[in-house]
This record gives sequence, C-alpha cells and structure tokens, in this order.
Amino acid sequence: MSDSLYDVVIIGGGPGGSTMASYLAQAGLSCVVLEAEHFPRPHVGESLVPATTPVLREIGALEKIEKEGFPKKFGAAWTAAVDESIPRLGFQGLTGGFGLADVQFSERDQPGVHQDHTYHVDRARFDEILLEHAGQQGAEIRQGARVQRVDLAGGTKRVTFTEGGAESSVRARMVVDASGRGTLLGRQLKLKEPDPVFNQYAVHAWFEGLDRQAVSGSEDRADYIFIHFLPLSDTWVWQIPITDTVTSIGVVTQKSRFKEAAADDLESFFWDCVDSRPELGRALRGAERVRPFKAEGDYSYAMRELCGDGWLLIGDAARFVDPIFSSGVSVALNSARLAASDIIAAHAAGDFSRERFTTYETKLRKAVSSWYEFISVYYRLNILFTAFVQDPRYRVDVLKMLQGDVYDDEEPAALSAMREVLREVEADPGHLWHRHLGSLRATAPAPAAAPGV
Ligand code: FAD
Repeated sequence: MSDSLYDVVIIGGGPGGSTMASYLAQAGLSCVVLEAEHFPRPHVGESLVPATTPVLREIGALEKIEKEGFPKKFGAAWTAAVDESIPRLGFQGLTGGFGLADVQFSERDQPGVHQDHTYHVDRARFDEILLEHAGQQGAEIRQGARVQRVDLAGGTKRVTFTEGGAESSVRARMVVDASGRGTLLGRQLKLKEPDPVFNQYAVHAWFEGLDRQAVSGSEDRADYIFIHFLPLSDTWVWQIPITDTVTSIGVVTQKSRFKEAAADDLESFFWDCVDSRPELGRALRGAERVRPFKAEGDYSYAMRELCGDGWLLIGDAARFVDPIFSSGVSVALNSARLAASDIIAAHAAGDFSRERFTTYETKLRKAVSSWYEFISVYYRLNILFTAFVQDPRYRVDVLKMLQGDVYDDEEPAALSAMREVLREVEADPGHLWHRHLGSLRATAPAPAAAPGV
C-alpha cells in the first residue's frame, strides 16, 4: 500500500476529516483518511448546534445519528447565582435559588433544518459512526496511522506516517489537515498564533445519576445544555446529557486561575469551582463520577493561513475558539462542507493552486470571526448576553448565532448592538452593569487573522 497515489489525503478522522471524506468520495474523488487512533476513542465536545444538521443530511448520515438514540437537544439554558441586579435583566428566579435564561431552537426557522432538535453525543460513538459512514461512501480509512510530516514541494504531495511501528507514505494532489488541536500542518508550517486574550483551561468528567431536573428547575429543560455562570471571573460550568443517566460536567476557566489554584490537583480545583455555586455542588455530590477528570488547555488560537497550493486546513486544525457556545463540531462539519466544494471544483479543473480555495477561506474566516466577537462580548460582560437573549428585539438574532447559522449572511445585527451597549458600559463607571465587566478584553475582532479579516 506504500506510496499509493490519491486525489486527496485527509489527516485525522474526527468529525471534520470524516465529513470531508464523505463529500469527496460521494463526488468520485479517491481519498484516504489517516487517523492516529483506533476508534471508538473518547473526545471532548459533546453538545451539537443545529448548524450540524444540514451537513449530516447532505452526506447521508443524519438518519444514522437519529437512530443511534443520542439525547435530543431542544435548547440551551444559562444560570447564575441570583444577585440584586440580575432580576432587572429579566432572569426568572427558580426554586433552586438561581436565575435562568433559556432558548429553544424551534423559536427560529433555520434554512436547511427540518427538525426541532440537535443532539448531545458521546463523541466516541458519534465520531465512529461518521468515520464508518465515510468508508461506506468509498473513502479508504486507515486507523492507527499517525502522520509524521507532509512534503508539500511539487505538484504531488507526500504524506509520511507510522502504522504498527513501521513508517510508510502515500501521495496525493491535495492534503487536507483535519488533525484537530494537534494542528499537524499548522505546526509544521509555523502558522499557529495563540490567542492573545483567551487562554482557557477546562477540567471535565462524566457523572452517573445527577438529578438534572433539580438543577434545571423544570422537566422540560432537563435535557438542554446548561451553562452555569460561577461567581468567579471568567469561569463557567457545562452540563451536557450523555445518556438518560450520565451527564458530562466541565469547568472552564482562565489558565492563570488554574495555575494559581491547584496546578497538580484537577479534582480539588474542579470541586472548589463547582462549590462556588452551592446548589450545583450539592446536586453533583449526589452523583457518582464514572470517568477520571481530564484537563484540556492552551486551546484558543488562529492560523495565519488556511490554505496554500495543494493543501488546506479544516475544523480545529484551522482555528479554535472557546467552546462556550458549542460551536466546534459545527465549525468542523461546515468547514469540511465549504472546503470540499472548492476541492471538488479544483479537481474538475485539474488545478489545486491556492486561488482555488479562496471562497472557502473567506467564508470560514467570516463565520469564525462572528463566533469570536460573540464570545468576546460574552466574556467581557456576560449579563449583557443574557439580557439580549431575553430582549424581544434581539432574541431571534441571538438565537441565529446559537444555532450556528453564521456561514451565509452578514454579521447578525444583535452583535453590533451588543458592542454598542458594551462601549457605553465600559465608558460609564456609574452604569449598573459596570461592576460586572470581566477582565478579558479583545482589542481586535479576530486575532492573527489573514489579510482582509
Ligand atoms: P478532532 O475531533 O479533534 O479530530 C481530529 C482527529 O485527528 C482525532 O481523531 C485525532 O486522533 C486525529 N489526529 C491528530 N493528529 C493526528 C496525526 N498526526 N495523524 C493522524 N491523525 C491525527 N464542540 C462542540 O461542538 N460542542 C461542545 O460542547 C464542545 N465543547 C468543548 C469543550 C472543550 C473543553 C474543548 C477543548 C472543545 C470543545 N468543543 C466542543 C470543540 C470540539 O471538541 C472540536 O471543535 C471538534 O472535535 C473538532 O473536530 P475536528 O474533526 O476538527 O478535530
């Protein structure tokens, strides 16, 4: 098999790589996915947004995902400890002593989405289904094949990998890097720029038997994703249903806070944070942890370039922004969709030069910079976000972002309005919300972006 020649080699078989492989194989291109691990393997990133649905349908995998019985995700909710200024923002007080804002995806029609839910997924199984699906569409899948380097010189690229202890290589006209936060090609080409503002750290685990209804305050919302604001700056908790009884819980904070607190003790750091919301700590202590604590760090960055002659980057290999709005898998799937369309056209033209991928590059940068702006505003003044969610003038527009519907239109109007209010709050120390300003402040819309962004 050594030195086989393909149209496209894809590095990594996560959601980005397998979706790319399905699109290309369906269009008749020969492609191989080189995946370092043997699936199923665990992975962080378990709550989807509806923008994944049209892509899953287009590649023919939606029915398989629906049949798997993953918990359906109908909406999202944010909670905060009640504080005297929060009722003014419209938070409804709940019996558990916390305030809540929530959205339901069915409140806004989304082009290409014909269902009222997306999914929370066990990524081991979700990623396995998508990779198997790509194989069934005609892509070659090689698991346990860890790519070491890519030789980009000349028209035919060579990708060298280790498999079963031996080194081999394959050749292709085009290389797609879908290696996730490993960013194989980005590191090799020295394209990676750490985010100057966000340097978050997450500690997470799975828990059996959490009373999700007690935490959600209602049966209807029990299977939403919950984002719990902690009374610690720039720190929040995710609560994601994995099965009827298993819940994924993760604490996200600034890395500096983690360093100060407990660099060598994930467990006490996790509990110290969660206990800052006593009702949350109590509910969680009634459940049993069924997976070890795992940490993820250093994860916000951009790439100076997303494509070149005969190569491009998709998913986390292209860019990573904070996961507060569960955007990652939707970016992986939609970046694969947009890039596959350019690659298929390049193949038809017999020309894989950089210019062929500019539609992809422009659309992806625009979409991710909307996410980035939204996240920046959120961290700077998160009560502003919840106020906008509850304001009838902006609710649907904010929901559009939360659905992940960011690829085809101009920037949502709610985002400019949020920026405007934020400027007023920053400029006025007497403003009711001034004391809620967070310490993270993005000075530019998109750090380390390529020209034009
Ligand atoms: P990955 O899923 O990482 O897949 C990359 C694949 O490449 C892996 O299988 C890996 O084994 C393989 N690989 C790596 N290096 C090599 C190599 N050298 N050779 C061969 N194969 C290689 N997203 C959401 O949508 N919802 C969430 O709730 C969410 N929460 C998150 C919470 C945290 C703390 C973090 C860090 C991320 C979260 N994300 C979330 C983001 C999500 O995990 C990613 O955006 C998503 O997995 C990206 O998919 P991908 O295919 O680009 O990369």
